[in-house]
Amino acid sequence: MAGSVRASGQNRGVSRRTSRPAPTVDAGSACPCGREATYADCCGAFHSGRASAPTAERLMRSRYSAFVVHDAAYLLRTWHSTTRPPELDFDPDIRWTGLEILATTGGSAFHNDGTVEFRAQYEAHGHTDAQTELSRFVRENGAWVYLDAVD
Ligand SMILES: [Zn+2]
Repeated sequence: MAGSVRASGQNRGVSRRTSRPAPTVDAGSACPCGREATYADCCGAFHSGRASAPTAERLMRSRYSAFVVHDAAYLLRTWHSTTRPPELDFDPDIRWTGLEILATTGGSAFHNDGTVEFRAQYEAHGHTDAQTELSRFVRENGAWVYLDAVD
């Protein structure tokens, strides 16, 4: 998600305010990314470093879940070195509430790049909204990383 800190899109969830504690997801709870798996068996395995996302879609889902749990370190290490911001903070007023994958191209074990179009729903200041983004992913040192958003 999120092309750069200045861009729109997922960066809507980014700010310098960090006054509230980060939200958490229990290991045995449903994964925030929407797959039928527990957080521990899904994105949590990537966040903890126990596994690496095998496809661009799984990486995108895990980055969405990282926004849910405010895992800035994971977002930064899965961001391409040429487009990665120096740091990330999260807007405490935004709560991500659902992810829908709309389309994918490439991004499999047999590809070196791919795209994922998604719709991410969030709540902010008492109302619900959503953003749609077409993200580009590439491999860097063999691992899938987020490159940027296509406008
Ligand atoms: Zn997941």
